[in-house]
Amino acid sequence: MTEPLLRASYCHCTRCQRRSGTAASAQARVAPGALSILSGEELVRAWQPESGFAKEFCSECGSQLWSRDPEDPDVVSVRFGAFDRDPGIRPQHRQFVAYAASWEEIPDDGLPRYDERPPA
Ligand SMILES: [Zn+2]
Repeated sequence: MTEPLLRASYCHCTRCQRRSGTAASAQARVAPGALSILSGEELVRAWQPESGFAKEFCSECGSQLWSRDPEDPDVVSVRFGAFDRDPGIRPQHRQFVAYAASWEEIPDDGLPRYDERPPA
């Protein structure tokens, strides 16, 4: 990452639950063009759902890496679990809470919550 991350959030959608195996996925938006892969690029695979961002992951260890806009490949959100160090940003809101897992209460952390995608 060559530039500071732009923003971050928790996503509670069912797709993120299934993909991550957790109640919510924490992710941070990368400045356009600021992400480059230094090694192992050949191991990165993608799953492209019918709608929404492609989910890119490591085919060697299965780790989720980031999602990427199929319309604009420069628009990428990195999964917090993929960072080796403190990413220097914290999630600022919770989205798709209408679909939150029934088995884990959303923490009372004061973050704004949106039933669907937050307003632009
Ligand atoms: Zn999601």
